[in-house]
Amino acid sequence: MANNDDLNIILERMIVALTSSGIGVFDLLLPENRLNWDHRMYELYGIRRGDFSSAYEAWKHSVHPDDLNQARSEFYSALSDESQFHSQFRIVWPSGETRHIESRTSVFRDADGAPVRIVGTNIDITAKKVADAMVQKLSRIASQTANVVIMTDLEGITEWVNEAFANLTGYVAEEIVGKKPGDLLQGKDSSADVVSTMSQALASKNSFHVEIINYRKDGSAYWVELRCEPLFDDQQQQIGFMSIGLDIDRRIRHEQQLVQQNELLLTMNQQSRVGTWEVDLQKDKCYWSEMTKEIHKVPVNFEPSLQTGVNFYKEGASRELIQICFDRAVNDGIPWDEEFELTTTTGEEVWVRGLGQAMIKDGHCERLVGSFQDINDVKLAEFALIEAKDRAEAATHVKGEFLASMSHEIRTPINRVTGMLNLLQRNTLDKHQSHLTNMALGSFDSLLGVINDILDFSRIESGQLAIENSDFDIEDLVTNAINPLALTAQDKGINLLLDTTEIADVTLNGDPGRIRQILTNLVSNAVKFTHKGYVYIHLKLVDVNQDQSLLVGEIVDTGIGIPNNKLGDIFESFTQVDTSTTGIYGGAGLGLAITRNLCRLLGGDLKVESHLGKGSRFAFSIQTKSIQPQHSKQTLKRSTVLSTIADKETDQLLVKFAASLGVNIEFSSDVLRDIEQKENLSAILLDYQQQRAVGHQVLRELSRSNQTLHPIYIIDAKDTTELQTDLKTALDTRIAENVTVLLNPIGRRSLARALQSFDDKAPTPNQTGHPGKRSENLDRKVLVVEDNLINQLVVEGYLESLEMEYVVAGNGLEALNLLRQQSDISVILMDCHMPEMDGYDATRAIRNGDAGARYKTVPIIALTANAMASDRGKCFDAGMTEFLTKPVSPEQLEEKIVYVSAQPPNSNQ
Ligand code: ADP
Repeated sequence: MANNDDLNIILERMIVALTSSGIGVFDLLLPENRLNWDHRMYELYGIRRGDFSSAYEAWKHSVHPDDLNQARSEFYSALSDESQFHSQFRIVWPSGETRHIESRTSVFRDADGAPVRIVGTNIDITAKKVADAMVQKLSRIASQTANVVIMTDLEGITEWVNEAFANLTGYVAEEIVGKKPGDLLQGKDSSADVVSTMSQALASKNSFHVEIINYRKDGSAYWVELRCEPLFDDQQQQIGFMSIGLDIDRRIRHEQQLVQQNELLLTMNQQSRVGTWEVDLQKDKCYWSEMTKEIHKVPVNFEPSLQTGVNFYKEGASRELIQICFDRAVNDGIPWDEEFELTTTTGEEVWVRGLGQAMIKDGHCERLVGSFQDINDVKLAEFALIEAKDRAEAATHVKGEFLASMSHEIRTPINRVTGMLNLLQRNTLDKHQSHLTNMALGSFDSLLGVINDILDFSRIESGQLAIENSDFDIEDLVTNAINPLALTAQDKGINLLLDTTEIADVTLNGDPGRIRQILTNLVSNAVKFTHKGYVYIHLKLVDVNQDQSLLVGEIVDTGIGIPNNKLGDIFESFTQVDTSTTGIYGGAGLGLAITRNLCRLLGGDLKVESHLGKGSRFAFSIQTKSIQPQHSKQTLKRSTVLSTIADKETDQLLVKFAASLGVNIEFSSDVLRDIEQKENLSAILLDYQQQRAVGHQVLRELSRSNQTLHPIYIIDAKDTTELQTDLKTALDTRIAENVTVLLNPIGRRSLARALQSFDDKAPTPNQTGHPGKRSENLDRKVLVVEDNLINQLVVEGYLESLEMEYVVAGNGLEALNLLRQQSDISVILMDCHMPEMDGYDATRAIRNGDAGARYKTVPIIALTANAMASDRGKCFDAGMTEFLTKPVSPEQLEEKIVYVSAQPPNSNQ
């Protein structure tokens, strides 16, 4: 047994131990309900000694209300059957601070086993509690985070993975635990360098931070960012590694895309030579991209400033323009897109397209951004083009001049030769001489046709074909264009059918000369290449809008047709389907090329369909204006017309015309019988073209009978005068006077005019122009102004054959003198090119009254070998009334003189 000193020593040591360990001791004497605390207890409970009542209830007061029940029930159960217990509870300091207490207690009992004393210790475990809670939180974070967490031992063998690992990789924890993560996750595209970096770090127990391609269980690859840190225990001993993996697949792919786009942008900028720039006005800093520097020919390390930038703009227009653009952008926020000339450091001048715009913040321009594009090559090409265009225009002009003079040079001799031949023809020639002259005239006609074609073609090619605009009656135009071809058609035994029903009585505005040319070309081709059957011409108008119409025509023939493989070529110039037949058919292969070009110039087109051996169909269209109001369609009194025309197509056409005129046409195989039976009979049509004998028979029978006579129309393509004279001698006068010859193709209008006579109740047997009496307008004196002797001779011969009086002047001056002396001149034929005074000056002088006031308005007809439209304009500008292109035929001359004489004096003369 130890003595008291020993006990004291032990006690002291215990107190020191207790004091240094922070443990408080209490002693509860149950019978007295006295609770003794050592000083440490007061510290643990934050209570001053004087404030504690030393009773069990005082302790209860300090316990946290939420833990009190638990602490009490543990206390009571220890009193009832245990001798030692320990518990944990929270206390609340008087200051309100909460602390965690661990209590260990021993119960002392009396001899009866009743508890008499409880002795125990309290220790503050607050710090431990907080640490435990933190550990719990951290482990929750590790398992619940979306990032992958892998814990390995020192050898890198997996000990634990979180749920995110399974979500990302597809492997469950059991599949990876016990293995090295890399063995499962890395594959062919995982970078070997990165793998070795990781292994080295692990071997040297260091941390690492990498990005690597890993593979899921299903084989798909993904990018992951891995951070691996060594793990230490409390004694700072390394116990393993913890890796955190972040799925960066989207980010990496996005970055790769950005890189690609950036590369693309750079390449595009490089290719299109576009550079960018930026000016920070506040920091007075400039940025130029590499291309911008390349454009300015400055080194890559060049540091631009606002002023040096501006200095690169070429002095003058470009420098001034950029200043304006700059000011407007800064002050008004207006962006610019202009072309500038820069002077590079090497002194070169280059063209750039410069764009710029202000970046405005709070109403102030902070920065300017923009781009430069090198457009030097484009600009140089543009300048070269303009120069080439100017040169081409000049060349075209020269070509036009050349054409004009060629046209003059060629036409002049032709004019003289055809003039002479025409004069020769008017003399008494024997049959052979007459035949030879005719042949020569025919050949000159063809030559003129070819020359005209070539001239037209060159004019179209050089864009010099002037298009006229005038009002004209389309039905008349078509009929007049087609009629001259009817004779050839009749001689070949083919039927020419002209359907004008849909363009009847319509006035159009357009270029009548060119429309006539188109029709003549197409119909003469059709007649040329057809040997049996017919050529059918049909025209109609299609309304485009209120005042625009399309004149649409089709020319259908039953001729030789065109092989399919040649259809595409026939509109090319100088092309014929079969060149071996040039000798048979003639032509230069220009007709269709010109015709299609004309149609296109007139706002339309030309198309063809053809079947070899069966025939062709050419369809053209032309834009015109129909003049409002159109004439109301002419209709006649109801009557019946008898016709002996058996040809199916002609008959059908006549029936159509008649219906549009309101009359009735009936075929008759026995005219004499039908005349008696038909009521309201207005006329009889006899087919002389195909059934001349039958027609003649009818005429003879009629002259023998006592029938009341109706107008009789003979349909033929032959010269009407000749036939009429023949008929007069062959028939008695009563019949002969009732007969009129209608030229084939008999148009709707000629039928209408013929039948009109029935309405007028006065037979008009000479509707087509009886040659008998000379027009009164020819009773005039003509002044011929012409320097060339042969030409004088030709015109004189024509005028003589027209029985007209004339005087001749050798140039403009002579003409003026002559006019001053003679007062009875009523028409002047004026050559244009003459020595001393040409036709233009002479005309101007006459219009000025230099030849006397009476001649100020005299009709002056220009006679010139110049066929260009510009020449025509020149004549009219000088004050001439009309225009005739040499070579001139006697008929043309007569027609023009009659025409100008019938016109009222022109106001501008
Ligand atoms: P050309 O003046 O030589 O007739 P075109 O240009 O008018 O030249 O016609 C070119 C060629 O197209 C003709 O030579 C001919 O072979 C063919 N052709 C034109 N029209 C017809 C047609 N109606 N029927 C058959 N062939 C045609």
